Amino acid sequence: MALLAGLLLEGSAQTRASLAWVIHSSQVLKTANRAMGHLQQAESGERGFALTHNPEFGETVEAEVGAARAAAGELVILTKDNPAQNDRAVQIRTLIGQRADLLEQIAKQTRAGDFTGAQAAVASGRGRYLMQLVEARVSDLLNEERALSTTRTDVVDKRLSYITWLVLGGVPLTMIFVGYTAATLIRRIRRPVDAMMTVMGQLGAGDRAARIDAHMESSEFERLANGYNAMAEELEGAVADQHESQDRLHVANAELSRNTEVLRERGEVIELLGGMAHRMQAARTDDELASIIRVFVPRVLPEIPGALYAHNNSRNLLVPIAAWGGLDVASSGFAPDQCWALRRGQSHFVVEPDSDIVCAHVGNQTDHYHCEPLLAGGEVIGVLYLKGVVGTENRFRLTVLTENIASALVNHRLQRGLREQTIRDPLTSLFNRRYMEETLALEIARASRSGSPLSLVMCDVDHFKRFNDEFGHDAGDAVLQAVATEMRSRFRDGDVVCRFGGEEFTIIAPGTSAVTLAARVDAVRQSISELIVHQGGRALGSLTMSFGIASWEDSMERDGSTLIKAADAALYRAKREGRNRVLVDARSETLTA
Ligand code: GH3
Ligand code: MG
Ligand code: MG
Repeated sequence: MALLAGLLLEGSAQTRASLAWVIHSSQVLKTANRAMGHLQQAESGERGFALTHNPEFGETVEAEVGAARAAAGELVILTKDNPAQNDRAVQIRTLIGQRADLLEQIAKQTRAGDFTGAQAAVASGRGRYLMQLVEARVSDLLNEERALSTTRTDVVDKRLSYITWLVLGGVPLTMIFVGYTAATLIRRIRRPVDAMMTVMGQLGAGDRAARIDAHMESSEFERLANGYNAMAEELEGAVADQHESQDRLHVANAELSRNTEVLRERGEVIELLGGMAHRMQAARTDDELASIIRVFVPRVLPEIPGALYAHNNSRNLLVPIAAWGGLDVASSGFAPDQCWALRRGQSHFVVEPDSDIVCAHVGNQTDHYHCEPLLAGGEVIGVLYLKGVVGTENRFRLTVLTENIASALVNHRLQRGLREQTIRDPLTSLFNRRYMEETLALEIARASRSGSPLSLVMCDVDHFKRFNDEFGHDAGDAVLQAVATEMRSRFRDGDVVCRFGGEEFTIIAPGTSAVTLAARVDAVRQSISELIVHQGGRALGSLTMSFGIASWEDSMERDGSTLIKAADAALYRAKREGRNRVLVDARSETLTA
């Protein structure tokens, strides 16, 4: 476009220059014609002046001659650029000057009234001659100038057609060139932009591995593509990191949930076992203990039948305390060395046949079982036998369960021992007097509420002092133990046999009248009188006892003192009437129902 503009500018400048020459030629032509015109006007004015002698014509001649001279002068100046034409112009000026001189001379003569001289001058024909010369020279100059003008016009024409062709050819060419360049440019921009947009679309659709081919024709686009690829790389890495973190978070979450579940379950187990331990602590009897175990153990270890064994008092046998889940156990129990868990002091289990040695106490009951020793203070106190497999998920339950049972069992035994100590007489193991008094008060309250009879027996070994005196105190003790054993086995379960003190005993017999009881007591008296007590390898001689029986009635003291006195009175009577007999309190005999 700059070239085109330059060419056009140059063309136009040249045209302007050519045009200036054309104008110059036309000025030369005009000036030459003007000089000729003025000269001809001066000639016709001179002829008029000569004919009319009117001075006005004379003035016209002078004016026209002046103008002709001036025009001739101009012509010389105008043709300065062209020496040939300038020569002609100088000649024309000279000839016009000569002709003008002549005309002025004739006009001067006419004005002076020298008409003859003027006519002679005209008649000389010099004027005509000069005019012809001027005309010839002007004609030459005009011809030459016209030829020049034609050439110059041709040049202008050529220049104009050159400009025309330049516009007609250059503009479309430039437009084609600009169009091609624009198309190329657009194509070179569109291709990489399309490629980038495609990849961005893929990225948007989730394909994070999509990358732009960085080989492009433009370094800017290459930088853009490289920058984009680097960004996509970063993004992919960040997303991968995020996924990894999310995965880790999921795993941690799942683990947390699992742990929470385990903790929750353990909490439940601990709560359950806490309840069990609390109840076991409050249990008075072995039966209560067994009931608690039977209820709670299947709740802690569901669907596994089992039994709990504990050492008997002499620690030579493991006797069953409780069994659950439909398991039948021999009440005889088994010896400690029949169980591998007891021998080793740790869990012993058989998961599948022949995988481990089977305890002798299990025999062929099952081919998979679990024995867990009960340990308290480092000592084995029993074993938990489970007829089934305890999975790893139940190990915690089993551990806590056995710990709880062991400590509860120890606690229960300790409590029972302490309680026994407070209510039992150590020599005979019968209930002591304090227990007797407490029980009697309770039984009186119950009897007075229900109206059922209540009787009391007071008894005393006859001439007991003799055993002590003859055989020593130990022999006396042996007699007391023998009597106690006999009475415990002879009286009914509901009867409470107590040692009142020394060689005196008391039996509380609820639900029985004195008279009915008398028959049973007499049987006991009979069996005691048949006892032969041995001590230190010798027989201690015959042994008899005297018995007094009384029944409670509403008029008596509620603390039992009156009843005891009444029975004691009957006993005293029996002694007096010869010993080895059973006597019923007189008032109580009438109560016989
Ligand atoms: P009676 O037939 O009149 O009852 O005569 P008795 O000898 O049985 O009665 P007494 O009250 O005279 O004697 C009781 C004796 O029992 C006195 C005491 O030393 C003795 N004794 C009391 N407690 C014990 C004991 O725990 N062991 C032994 N060996 N003797 C005891
Ligand atoms: Mg006595
Ligand atoms: Mg006595």
